[in-house]
Amino acid sequence: MTNQHREPSFRESVDLMFNRAVALMDLSPGLEEKIRVCNATYTVRFGVRLRGGIQTFTGYRSVHSEHMEPVKGGIRFSLGVSQDEVEALAALMTYKCALVETPFGGSKGGLCIDPRAYDEDELERITRRFAYELIKRDLINPSQNVPAPDMGTGEREMAWIADQYARMNTTDINARACVTGKPINGGGIQGRVEATGRGVQYALREFFRHPGDVARAKLSGKLDGKRIIVQGLGNVGYHAAKFLSEEDGARIVAIIERDGALTSNTGLDVEDVRAWIAGHGGVQGYPNATYTENGAAVLEAECDILIPAALEGVINLDNAARIQAPLVVEAANGPVTAGADEILRQKGTVIVPDMFANAGGVTVSYFEWVKNLSHIRFGRMQRRQEESRHELLIDELERLSRDRDLGWTLSPGFKEKYLRGAGELELVRSGLDDTMRAAYQAMQEVWHEREGVDDLRTAAYLVSIGRVAASYRAKGL
Ligand code: NAD
Repeated sequence: MTNQHREPSFRESVDLMFNRAVALMDLSPGLEEKIRVCNATYTVRFGVRLRGGIQTFTGYRSVHSEHMEPVKGGIRFSLGVSQDEVEALAALMTYKCALVETPFGGSKGGLCIDPRAYDEDELERITRRFAYELIKRDLINPSQNVPAPDMGTGEREMAWIADQYARMNTTDINARACVTGKPINGGGIQGRVEATGRGVQYALREFFRHPGDVARAKLSGKLDGKRIIVQGLGNVGYHAAKFLSEEDGARIVAIIERDGALTSNTGLDVEDVRAWIAGHGGVQGYPNATYTENGAAVLEAECDILIPAALEGVINLDNAARIQAPLVVEAANGPVTAGADEILRQKGTVIVPDMFANAGGVTVSYFEWVKNLSHIRFGRMQRRQEESRHELLIDELERLSRDRDLGWTLSPGFKEKYLRGAGELELVRSGLDDTMRAAYQAMQEVWHEREGVDDLRTAAYLVSIGRVAASYRAKGL
């Protein structure tokens, strides 16, 4: 039997990891089963008139758990979309939302399409029609089911979906809250586009605040100078690589894309590579690095941190034993299969699990949803008031120094920085940072203290399943 045949499907992989965790818990078998199963998956097939004919598309929206509503989860546009995949991703959303304490159940959607094969006008018609099919079944609704971007979708698609919902629900004052990840002028929030990558950065910063945890990954010191390999320079991978290299001094020694990989021991310029991909459709031909056609092989190269940020299942039974990175940060959903997880754990690789590492997206989506429901930008009421209170304090310090001849002077830049009240972007980043730190600490406590738990993923599952179970119990189940 080949490894491919021994490998479980994505949904089975998620279930296997879930089972490992619940074996350490004291849940009734009934409740355990209730949490594990996916509540419903809708398949929609619809036709769109394109290029002189009718093309039929297949899409899905899966609802894993409704212990809290609305349920939340992105919409993916990819040829790899299937019922198994959306169900696995919906389950991960349930656990992710519970781990970072966003008050949502888990859901996910997908359309089986290669978005690069259509022009903008065609994609808009397809997206609107898909949205129509979901909206009329309340599978997009501000109080029941709120999608967001995922692979192959972004602000543009979310704006079309929001507009489609508003057209079909003309009197719904909360219409904008039907989807998150919208452009800022269409009801979005500052910092949402970068949120998942920013969350990966905050996750790593928090990890490196704990020298004992860093030592478990056979690393030492800070993020500064660490060699990082990133797979996928899309929304998540690009922002994570950009922030970690520009703000934390990490070195991006390889970028793996669809058409191959770029490597450079001195570190790649992430902006430059991104611009090259935008202009040339791939990494091949990029002048300032070494190109390797077999991108997947570069996952196995030596580095300090490996960040898969593209697809699921890329670290599997075939290559797990050869992965050299001592620390793997799952920026993508499900990049490590259950079998590979076992191999890596035995090797002592530390894995920062997807449900935590990429939770920045749903966290800021939560802020956007709250902003839409409250119909006011964060910070709008407090900013000037905060500034005037700070000014009062500075004026008083300066007066004291003058009156008593103390000769105090504030250091350059301090006054300006201290006086500036927080705007929406600062508040979003602060909320995200706080969320990532709190979630890490909840996982870490279980990782260190709970008998039988030797990895962060099991710890993450234990925290989140415990919260979902508590919520079901509170409902009387
Ligand atoms: P994206 O479509 O913006 O980017 C995906 C990138 O991966 C693209 O650059 C693509 O060219 C590249 N890619 C595709 N196949 C590849 C391959 N075989 N090898 C190497 N690179 C390949 O998608 P995204 O939004 O960045 O999502 C990436 C992952 O992160 C997915 O698993 C998604 O579920 C997860 N995620 C995304 C968000 C979000 O807010 N966008 C939130 C949480 C999790």
